[in-house]
Amino acid sequence: MRIKKGDTVKIIAGKDKGKSAKVLKVFPVKNKILIDGLNVYKKHVKPKKQGEKGQTVLVPRPIYVSNAMLVCSGCGNSVKTGYRLGNEKKERICKKCGAVI
Ligand SMILES: [Zn+2]
Repeated sequence: MRIKKGDTVKIIAGKDKGKSAKVLKVFPVKNKILIDGLNVYKKHVKPKKQGEKGQTVLVPRPIYVSNAMLVCSGCGNSVKTGYRLGNEKKERICKKCGAVI
């Protein structure tokens, strides 16, 4: 996957389009990412004990990687990424400014 945990991404589709936040978790098998505080849905939780009230909690749902773009720490834009071979290691680079991200 092009996006890793801890990256800042911008959502380009869906209800939070245009917003950006940090990636909390990646799900490589599902091609999805969980973003901090975005794509949040209300979930109703049933009371566990008698006499307790049910409550509504906000739960973030993962989105498809294809609906997000990486935000470059160098130029601050949402960018496409490329790869180049650095010190015997593959480096992810910003296609706009060339910074390693
Ligand atoms: Zn850049």
